[in-house]
Amino acid sequence: MEKIKMRSPIVEIDGDEMTRILWQEIKSELLAPFVELNTEYYDLGLPNRDATGDRVTAEAGEAILRCRVGVKCATITPNAERMKEYGLREMWRSPNGTIRAILDGTVFRAPIACPVLKTLIPGWIKPITVARHSYGDIYRDTELRVEGPGTAELVFTAADGSQERRTIYEFEGPGVLQGCYNKDSSVENFARSCFEYALSVGQDLWFSAKDTIMKQYDGLFKDTFRRLYEEEYRERFEQAGITYFYTLIDDAVARLVRSEGGIVWALKNYDGDVMSDLISTAFGSLAMMTSVLVNADGCYEFEAAHGTVTQHYYRRLRGERTSTNPVATIYAWSGALRKRGELDGDAALTGFADALETAVMDTICAGTVTGDLAALMEPRPAGVDSETFLAAVRARLEKTLGA
Ligand code: NAP
Ligand code: MG
Repeated sequence: MEKIKMRSPIVEIDGDEMTRILWQEIKSELLAPFVELNTEYYDLGLPNRDATGDRVTAEAGEAILRCRVGVKCATITPNAERMKEYGLREMWRSPNGTIRAILDGTVFRAPIACPVLKTLIPGWIKPITVARHSYGDIYRDTELRVEGPGTAELVFTAADGSQERRTIYEFEGPGVLQGCYNKDSSVENFARSCFEYALSVGQDLWFSAKDTIMKQYDGLFKDTFRRLYEEEYRERFEQAGITYFYTLIDDAVARLVRSEGGIVWALKNYDGDVMSDLISTAFGSLAMMTSVLVNADGCYEFEAAHGTVTQHYYRRLRGERTSTNPVATIYAWSGALRKRGELDGDAALTGFADALETAVMDTICAGTVTGDLAALMEPRPAGVDSETFLAAVRARLEKTLGA
C-alpha cells in the first residue's frame, strides 16, 4: 500500500513519562506505516522545557495558531517534588495553561463510548460532553501569602489613572490571597463555541456556575450565555429540537446524576477540570475520554484527557511491562489527522482516521484490552500490555487498509 501523503502539517507536541513512551509506539506502529507524517515537532518534555526556559511551550501554542491543527501528548505540570526529581531551574507553569492562554478557546471532553464497557452510572445511556472554558480564572491567578495582620484590597487602575478599590479582608494574622480575572471577549467566545458545538451534535446545552455567590464574576458568564441565546441562537435551537438551560452548579450535578446523559455541559475552567474527570471515570476510564480545544478562529488542539500516568512509568523504568491504555492518545492523533483532512479536503486522510478508530473499537469489542478496561467487562478478559494491544490494533488496521 502506498502511504497517504499529508498536504499540510499538523503541530506535534511531545510530552512526558508513560505517555511519551506510548507516543513513539503509536507513531511507529499505527501511523508511520500508513501515513507519511507531516508534522512541526515541539518537544515539551520537562527537560526541554527547562532547557529552553519554557520558550518551547509558547512556540508550540503559536504554531497551532499558524497550522490550525495540533496534537499534544500529556505533560508534567511541575510541583516542588518534580523540581527536585528533574533538577529544574524554575517551577514552570502548566503547559496546558500556557497553550490555552494563547489559543483562548473551549475544551470539549467526551467519553469514547463502547458498548461492551459498563458505565458506573447505569442511567447514563448517552454520552455527556463537558465543555470547559479554557481561559483565565485560577489557572492564571496571582497568589500572595500574607505573613501577618494587614488589609487586603482589590485595586483597579484604569488607563486614565483613576482607581476603584474594594476591601477584601482585614487580616488579623497570617493567611493567603488569590486574584483571578476573565475577559468579556473570552466569555463570549466560550458561549458561542458551546452553542455551535451543541448544534453540531444535536444535544441540549446546559451551563452551570455559582452566580448566587460570585454575582459579578459568574454573573458575567450567565448573562453572556443568556444574551447570546436570545439574540442569536434561540431560533436555531428550536429548529434543531434542542434546548439551552442554565442552573446553579450544585443543582446541575443532582440533575445530571438522574439524567440519561446526551447533553453538552458547559462549565467554567476549574469546574470543567474536575467534572470531566468525574464523568470520564463514570463512563469507564480516564483513558477513554477525548479532549479537543477549539478557539473562535477555528484552531484545534487534540489531546488525551489523562496525565502522564506516572506510576506506570516508574514500573516501566524498573523493567516491568505495563498495561497502560493508549486509546485516548490514539484518538488525539486520529482527531487531529481527521481535522487536517477536513480542512484540506483530503478524503484519504479522513478515511485513515476513521479506519484507525474502527480498528481500536473492534479490538476492544473482541476482548483485547488493557487492564483498566478489563475491569469494566463481563465476563472479565485477561488484560494485555500496551504493546500487545497496539499490535492487535495494527493487525486489524492492516487488514482494513489492505496493507
Ligand atoms: P494520570 O496520569 O491521569 O494518572 C492517574 C491514574 O489514572 C493512573 O495512576 C492510572 O491508575 C489511571 N490512568 C490514567 N491514564 C491511564 C491510562 N492511559 N491507562 C491506564 N490507567 C490510566 O494523573 P496523575 O497521576 O494525577 O498525574 C500524573 C502527571 O500527569 C502529573 O505530573 C500531572 O501534572 C500530569 N497531568 C498532565 C495532564 C495533561 O497534560 N493533559 C493532565 C493531568 C495530569 P492506576 O495507577 O490505578 O492504574
Ligand atoms: Mg485535570
